[in-house]
Amino acid sequence: MEKCSFCGKNKKDSKLLIAGISGQICDSCAEQAYNIVTEEVKSKSEFNLENIKLLKPSEIKDFLDQYVIGQEAAKKYISVAVYNHYKRLTQEKQKNARDDVDIEKSNIILVGETGTGKTLLARTIALMLQVPFTIVDATVLTEAGYVGEDIESVLTRLLQAADYNLEAAERGIVFIDEIDKIARKSDNPSITRDVSGEGVQQGLLKLLEGSVVNVPPQGGRKHPDQKMIAVNTKNILFICGGAFDGIEKKIAQRLNTKVVGYKANAQDENIDRDNLLQYIAPQDLKSYGLIPEIIGRLPVLSYLNPLDRDALKAILTEPKNSIIKQYIKLLKMDGIKLSFNEEALEYIVDKAIEFNLGARGLRSICEAIMIDPMYELPSTKTKELTIDLKFAREKIEKLNLEKLKAA
Ligand code: ADP
Repeated sequence: MEKCSFCGKNKKDSKLLIAGISGQICDSCAEQAYNIVTEEVKSKSEFNLENIKLLKPSEIKDFLDQYVIGQEAAKKYISVAVYNHYKRLTQEKQKNARDDVDIEKSNIILVGETGTGKTLLARTIALMLQVPFTIVDATVLTEAGYVGEDIESVLTRLLQAADYNLEAAERGIVFIDEIDKIARKSDNPSITRDVSGEGVQQGLLKLLEGSVVNVPPQGGRKHPDQKMIAVNTKNILFICGGAFDGIEKKIAQRLNTKVVGYKANAQDENIDRDNLLQYIAPQDLKSYGLIPEIIGRLPVLSYLNPLDRDALKAILTEPKNSIIKQYIKLLKMDGIKLSFNEEALEYIVDKAIEFNLGARGLRSICEAIMIDPMYELPSTKTKELTIDLKFAREKIEKLNLEKLKAA
């Protein structure tokens, strides 16, 4: 009688019996085996802590350097914070090595104009650590019960990014963008509740400080019957980013009040008034409207510099997956050798500056230049294309850059 070599079930009791060299397997055992294999592979795969090689802070920074131009201070702070975060995780793992000293979580807050690389830094760190990563926009969050997304949706996204591997999600990284937009609107003496400001800050606190949160796996309020997943946020690293428009004023005020009463302070003369962000301190975030509890849960504070001409030019060509390298790769797949000459690159940067488009604008400008050749060349016999100033200028002048600006 033919039987499954795994469970012993008879052929007639199973839907299917697959024969091998020295036995056979029934459909339900095959299915079970498949599930075990996928689970095993998943846990051994990208998100496994054992696979994470603990890099030294300087090595982490070297990695960031490949993708992010400049922003030395922020890179240094992040490198140390991430290094400590992972030391913390290893400490958690070696429970017996624990003593009374608990390393606290080092959530990060990055302040800098939009388009200067905050998200890119967070993304690159996640790439390096091979942990689940998600970006959420703080502006869509509201207190539970109000129009908008519940705070827990942040963790739903992380679970989704982790393919619902809870263990992996609990060590992931969440980038909360536009954290400045949930600043307390204290100047506004409105009697309505501040449901998207302070209310959200209070809600976020729970996530940042590390607690067990019940998360609707499908997110949102559309699936009221779903079974909640309990997610422990203790080891989730939160990186917050915000432009904090106008915070320079608060910094300047603080720096000025400090010197009142002193005779012409030598320190004051050393202050670089053109880039006040570099002096940012937690109390400036408080003056801006973040509640002290939130600030306390974001102990690592750093800033990003505005991008100057050199930085923009470097962003075009230098990062490992720079825009220009991407176009070269795309056309190479059609057997076309693409290059940009120096003048054309300078021109692209000029236009980004002229129209105040920042680093994000570089892509739109390049796209406008490249759209025609990318459309036409694959159907021709052309094997080589050099983008020079004349070519770039022609394409850009045809285009209304003001339109890009609005985008
Ligand atoms: P932010 O989060 O600060 O608003 P992003 O990190 O999203 O800005 O930057 C937008 C895009 O601009 C990035 O995807 C990247 O292509 C480019 N970029 C910005 N800053 C840098 C930088 N310092 N180095 C390399 N690319 C950058």
